[in-house]
Amino acid sequence: MPRKSYKRIPVCTGIIIALVLVNFTINAQDAQIRFDRYHGYTGTSEYLKKVNTAYPGITELLTIGESTMGKPIYVLVISNMSKGTTIDRHIDLRNMRKENIQNVPPMKIHQGKPGHFISGSTHGNEYTGTEVCLYIIDKLVSGYGGDEDITSLVDSKAFYICPVINPDGVYNSVEKGIAQRNNSMEKDDDDDGKINEDGPDDIDGDGYITSFRYKDDDGMYIIDESDPRLMIRLGRDTKTDKQRYSVIREDIDNDKDGKRGEDPESGLDLNRNYPEGWWKDDGFAGGSGDYPLSAPETHAIAEFFTNYRNILMAQFYHTSGGFTYRPMGTAPHPRLNPTDVAVFDFIMGKKYLEIIGEEIPEAWLHPENMEQYKKELAETDADSYSKSRGYRLPRGWRVSYNEEDDERYGYGMATDWLYAQYGIYSITTELWNPEDDIPGFEIPDDENRRVAVDKALLKYQDEEYNGDLFVNWKAYTHPELGEGETGGWKSQYARNNAFPGEPLINVCEKHWQFELFRAKLLPEIIIRDIKPRIIYSGSTNEGTVKRNDSEFSVEKGKGKGIYHIVEISATIENTGALATNLADGEELPGNRQDVVWLVAERDNIEFIEGQPFISLGSLGGTKKIPGVRNSPSHKEVKWIIAIKENTPLKIVASSLKGGTVYKEIKFK
Ligand SMILES: [Zn+2]
Repeated sequence: MPRKSYKRIPVCTGIIIALVLVNFTINAQDAQIRFDRYHGYTGTSEYLKKVNTAYPGITELLTIGESTMGKPIYVLVISNMSKGTTIDRHIDLRNMRKENIQNVPPMKIHQGKPGHFISGSTHGNEYTGTEVCLYIIDKLVSGYGGDEDITSLVDSKAFYICPVINPDGVYNSVEKGIAQRNNSMEKDDDDDGKINEDGPDDIDGDGYITSFRYKDDDGMYIIDESDPRLMIRLGRDTKTDKQRYSVIREDIDNDKDGKRGEDPESGLDLNRNYPEGWWKDDGFAGGSGDYPLSAPETHAIAEFFTNYRNILMAQFYHTSGGFTYRPMGTAPHPRLNPTDVAVFDFIMGKKYLEIIGEEIPEAWLHPENMEQYKKELAETDADSYSKSRGYRLPRGWRVSYNEEDDERYGYGMATDWLYAQYGIYSITTELWNPEDDIPGFEIPDDENRRVAVDKALLKYQDEEYNGDLFVNWKAYTHPELGEGETGGWKSQYARNNAFPGEPLINVCEKHWQFELFRAKLLPEIIIRDIKPRIIYSGSTNEGTVKRNDSEFSVEKGKGKGIYHIVEISATIENTGALATNLADGEELPGNRQDVVWLVAERDNIEFIEGQPFISLGSLGGTKKIPGVRNSPSHKEVKWIIAIKENTPLKIVASSLKGGTVYKEIKFK
């Protein structure tokens, strides 16, 4: 017996170690990802859970809300969960809640770090952005520990990645093959007691919901001569001798409401439902909702941003076009502080154009000559906003506000809301421009560029995808519309998303590079040059200690003993490229100035000069912003205190969006 158990122990230990190792390897492999197909809502959710399991030390998976149809909205946090600190770990709440009332949860460690939010699929049928989010997640988690830049970013910053803002839209668009831009709205159009089950139908039973084309003298389409698979959309007043067609989504009108090819699950446009510049508009692509944040999805995003005030950078991916909107769309140029404009255009915009390969405006390369450019532009027919800036915005980096006609575009958009109300460098990138994103992509000369691109895409899918993305037209007799043909692009591969494989990877890589660049711009505050100098030490047994020639009385109630009178100075510095706030960021309601605290046990410290906390305004960054006044990136602070001997003391510097750090001071 003793011999047997002696033998068993080491064997068991060996197995346990082996299992742990194997398990770890399986996790890391599980979280590997390929981009030869779209992940949709289901694949994305599975992937996020796998990454969270494989990398518990640097990820947290948040569920921030639910879609109309009850699908969770996820945010994956990527940040080293064992590095960093938060203000509430050092500063006690003044008015503690009653015991056992847990209504003030402790801050999470990543809330003490500058935050970067990246999201996809606000519009459900624009899921290229979801893929870019997954690509960025993969780069960050797999690069951690190996790549120096990534490791340092994951240690010191917090990434918040929400690959799918609109779960119902993505699920229907990718998994079911029914393109859905908006969120879902609970509807029972056919009065059968079931909600949202009556989507478009695969009427010819070939497994794909494509299109149905039929001869119609009032139709808006004709068949292309050189490639009869292609339908060319005519202008409203275009005259033609050719047979006109109508093209609708493959469908029958099950609910007999007279609408075919409709989108029975479609609700409102989530990017018109945010509180900045919102107005009620039922006419626009589903409408803006009954009131700001009326959609469960936008409500979840708003709650999230209210809880995570550390976020300074945000991206909302849409498709398509291959350009970026910086703020604002709902208000003209003067609504932005010139310093923010300079950061957006001269720093971010310049890099973005470089990455997508578009020519950078001369004025951005030499902003020191801006007065000259303004003079030159004044002589042209440029709009007044371009003239006041000194340059026109390029194709690739623009605003959605119509500067030519001085008209706002849209309302209630996420990017405007976060910029104007939360003080965030928020942008919206319209991903995917086949001309830029497919190497060697050739577009035939054609007076109609859209048709030319369609032709080239069709040829590309013939050659590279064996024609799998397109269903050839075949005769079909529609139960309601009669003779015609079903066919066309499979819904998922219609032109507004990057084709999986090489084109998608090209898109992902470019925009990962751009967000990596932006992440490296984030502020980072440090405390340096702490100089404690003991001016005088003495006993309070007589009730006073001396400071230079004057006497200082230690308050009644403080313990008797040896006290030091100490002068402490320190420098709080922002070593990051950008300031800790947008130009007007600290004045926005809900934001705050950077602060520094000197903290010790309350009864053992008395402030002779200076307050326990000192407001610092916002600390500037190390990067010179052309054409505007740069604020200093560091400030020196000083206190004179009386402190009881052997009392631990620390300096805590905290910036809402620049991070929280502390240093302990020890002296005898
Ligand atoms: Zn969109």
